[in-house]
Amino acid sequence: MAQSYQTAAWLDAPGPNTKLYLKHDVPIPTLGPGQVLVKLECSGVCHSDVHAILGETKRMAVHVGGHEGVGQVLKLGQDVPQSYLNARVGVKWLYSACLACEICSLEYTRCPHQSNSGRDVPGTFQQYIAVPANFVTKIPAQLESEKAAPLMCAGITVFAAIKKARLSKGEWVVIIGAGGGLGHLGVQIAVKMGYRVIAVDEGDEKGRMCRGYGAEMFLDYKIDNVEKTVKDLTRGYGAHAIICTTGSEAAYTQAFQLVRILGTIVCVGLSMSHLSISPFTVAIRGLKVIGSSVGTEEEMEELLGMAVKGDVVSNIEVFELAELDDVVQKLVKAQIVGRAVMKIPV
Ligand SMILES: [Zn+2]
Ligand SMILES: [Zn+2]
Repeated sequence: MAQSYQTAAWLDAPGPNTKLYLKHDVPIPTLGPGQVLVKLECSGVCHSDVHAILGETKRMAVHVGGHEGVGQVLKLGQDVPQSYLNARVGVKWLYSACLACEICSLEYTRCPHQSNSGRDVPGTFQQYIAVPANFVTKIPAQLESEKAAPLMCAGITVFAAIKKARLSKGEWVVIIGAGGGLGHLGVQIAVKMGYRVIAVDEGDEKGRMCRGYGAEMFLDYKIDNVEKTVKDLTRGYGAHAIICTTGSEAAYTQAFQLVRILGTIVCVGLSMSHLSISPFTVAIRGLKVIGSSVGTEEEMEELLGMAVKGDVVSNIEVFELAELDDVVQKLVKAQIVGRAVMKIPV
């Protein structure tokens, strides 16, 4: 590979009025030991990218965001098995973890020493990325890259969140934000696992999609009385679990109204406001409030297996990388149905 520069969707600095633009003189990264060089084909756009770009979450330390990339391994660093060469792989939020600390021994996705794509290291909105080989996901041949990309963050995150709710078949789950990147995959996963799904979001298009995926009910939070309908459907108890994929305060407030006694709320959407529930209510109702973000490689394997069988299919809208700034604005306004996927220039 003779060229040493590449194109990236560049961010001078995060902030509310920031603009992303294509920069063509970004150095192609050099490989460290154990790393592979991936030529990215596409990258999904996650809501946490939007928060980071707008400077709402922990400050991005790099100029290139993105953590849902799929591409081909072009080059191997020292000590990487030959089997990685030319493999099609996914690059995820968890860029690396120490794999040696007490937290890693329990759940390495929570490693306090982890690095994240698009936050501590340049992410997937660029042509080339150097990534530790043991943190990439090999993509099954049956899956198109653009449809596999959303599984690398949205899919695995909602999959792990649903698992954490520990539901039994036939139990009710409400998915808030069901028409979004995580939610639309979550509806399919939950239905396939045998749970009864109530989808909450807004608008006819998202409603049609969620019902098409097997949600028993779609509730438009702008029009419908969500609490009353959920209570009516569940014999007055409320749902066994609420998966809140939206980062809004109102969504979390509603989640506590929809959950039954002994139920579980899984916090996935990144809201910066505090949960509006008292310890009294949590104690008296015996609620479980669990946080979930990303998931393990074993969970990823299981999810990819479902995707290969067609049990979970990403609903995507594909854009050129140059349009990333517009896509961020659309995501702010909740105007993307399913997942936005950026095509990386060849
Ligand atoms: Zn993400
Ligand atoms: Zn660790």
